Amino acid sequence: STPVVTFCTLTKAATSGLLIKGGDYIEILAKVKIMAFDKTGTITSGEFVVMDFQSLRDDIGLNTLLYWVASIERKSSHPMADALVDYGRSHSVEPKPENVEEFQNFPGEGIHGKIDGQDIYIGNRKIALRANCDTVPTIEGGKGGKTIGYIYSGGTPAGIFTISDTCRSGAAEACRELKKLGIKTAMLTGDSLAAALHTNEQLKQALEVVHAELLPEDKARIITKFKTEGSTVMVGDGINDAPALATADIGISMGISGSALAQETGNIILLSNDIRKLAKAVKLARRANRKVI
Ligand code: ADP
Ligand code: MG
Repeated sequence: STPVVTFCTLTKAATSGLLIKGGDYIEILAKVKIMAFDKTGTITSGEFVVMDFQSLRDDIGLNTLLYWVASIERKSSHPMADALVDYGRSHSVEPKPENVEEFQNFPGEGIHGKIDGQDIYIGNRKIALRANCDTVPTIEGGKGGKTIGYIYSGGTPAGIFTISDTCRSGAAEACRELKKLGIKTAMLTGDSLAAALHTNEQLKQALEVVHAELLPEDKARIITKFKTEGSTVMVGDGINDAPALATADIGISMGISGSALAQETGNIILLSNDIRKLAKAVKLARRANRKVI
């Protein structure tokens, strides 16, 4: 399109809540074939609520375990962290992140910290390996697609919790709109397959492809594969998906809930959390590509 059309399109997109960092992205957006979404924080709100939290060891009281978990989570920027800290507070447990040593973040797996002389690992089933443990405990009510969190200390399971968040309003509609535009939609998540399928069920199976239990580099690898099928957009919040955002033909980052890294990596910033705007943006880009002044 001409510079004038490009300028008008960028302006129009900005008014409707999409910051496009350059006219070239309009052309790519117009011919996008695949749109891949991160789950946590992108399709879902990332506003987690802890449903159930248990100690699995007689020698570790619930409040001690909560204190350890909340203190270590205070050092994490993952959307789950706030929920665990809030849950601790609702049990009168105040986190003390200053007492945590050797904090480590394992993207797509979980976290580690040392507190009261204990090495604590918190995360999904992959974190068991980091904790030098090959036992993965189960929890009552763990089925039904809630995210399950595991806590390990001293090479054995120390606790387990279930935590859930909800799909953003309009997520199902967004996927259906994209499908009407001939765009294949996919979910790429670090969460369990059960949780991923549950989310897609809530969306009435609006997503055509679901990939779960992915590390950040797995997400990037799948994007590379998608690119052989056609122009690929990745939409994410920058937590465990920055490599995928950078690999895609266009990386779209969540502007409000997204991390600073996402806003830097993204070629387009969604200034609201309304992912329905993405289908509108594709339509706008297609109109711009047809226009010649
Ligand atoms: P998604 O790909 O859906 O955005 P993430 O890659 O952010 O999910 O996280 C994948 C999984 O890693 C989470 O479902 C969670 O089980 C685990 N995880 C990551 N960070 C943490 C943390 N700070 N505390 C507990 N679990 C975590
Ligand atoms: Mg995420």
